[in-house]
Amino acid sequence: MGIVDFLRVMPKAELHVHIEGTLEPEMIMSKAEENGVKIPYRSVGGIRNAYRFNDLQSFLNIYYSGMSVLVDRDDFRDLALAYFKRAHQDGVRRAEVFFDPQAHLRRGVNLSDVILGLHDAAAWAMENLRMSIDYIMCLLRDLPEDDGISVLQEALKYRGGVGDGWIIGICLDSKEYGNPPSKFRNAYRIAVDNGLIPVAHAGEEAPAEYVWEAINVLNARRIDHGYHAFEDESLIKLIAEKGIPVNMCPLTTLRIKYFNSILDVPVKRALDAGIAVTINSDDPAYFGGYILDNYIAVYEGQGLRLIDMVKLAENSIRASFLKDSDKDRLLRELVNLTSINSLDSLMG
Ligand SMILES: [Zn+2]
Repeated sequence: MGIVDFLRVMPKAELHVHIEGTLEPEMIMSKAEENGVKIPYRSVGGIRNAYRFNDLQSFLNIYYSGMSVLVDRDDFRDLALAYFKRAHQDGVRRAEVFFDPQAHLRRGVNLSDVILGLHDAAAWAMENLRMSIDYIMCLLRDLPEDDGISVLQEALKYRGGVGDGWIIGICLDSKEYGNPPSKFRNAYRIAVDNGLIPVAHAGEEAPAEYVWEAINVLNARRIDHGYHAFEDESLIKLIAEKGIPVNMCPLTTLRIKYFNSILDVPVKRALDAGIAVTINSDDPAYFGGYILDNYIAVYEGQGLRLIDMVKLAENSIRASFLKDSDKDRLLRELVNLTSINSLDSLMG
């Protein structure tokens, strides 16, 4: 088995993917036609050209215009099905998938169509692809907290247990700078009181202070991105000591130009600091790669060893919200795979 195949078949969890960010240009075109939605592009190539953004805001502009083609329950099912089939090819066995209900509600889409469509896809993939799937609902942090709270309250009836394919967690995403975690302290309190697990995007474009707030004010159980945490040694120490996983998305950081080089993405630094860092795809249709592409990028770009790559897969399983018995099963598979494929022979 070659190295890429090994990275592909390693059982892994994807913990940071936005389902709307898996919307490929081909699906935008076909759904626009099917639903009679006018889009400012005439071809798949035209959409691909528009994907040449250079910062978070220009990405968000295209991102929100693309999702206008998603209208009914079948659209959300088709979107998520395409992602699960793709992720399955990359060895994803557990997916905790973000979605942005407010981005759809403000276009007049029904919340029930969004969530039931996503659940339809999860149920199919769990049955047919041996994947375990749940959803984490995101609040758009550039909107007022009250807006988030009203959507949250409506969404609570779709809360599920781990592995049921419903909503298990709450997150914050979209424009970070100027919208600190503390803005959402009440929303998170309601979410947690109702059994949702708190996580948060923090330190993606905003400073380390936002990561402190995500941990101290929102009690975030995982940090998404977290790059700016590495500017604060005491914060890094806390994250390592508390064992708070940090979900990084290497290809995103290059496309959005947070970093000039894959060498600067702090994956190796996090591993060296004993942080439970994981590798994820974020918005793979927009950022040039699914999860395997991200694994390959850090392997090749940071001079990591295969044992580090196994550690990243292990971290993803441990950092997931799976039950311990399910984690143990996947970890045993990972151990078996590494013993069958002696890492030395793969290197040779
Ligand atoms: Zn994200």
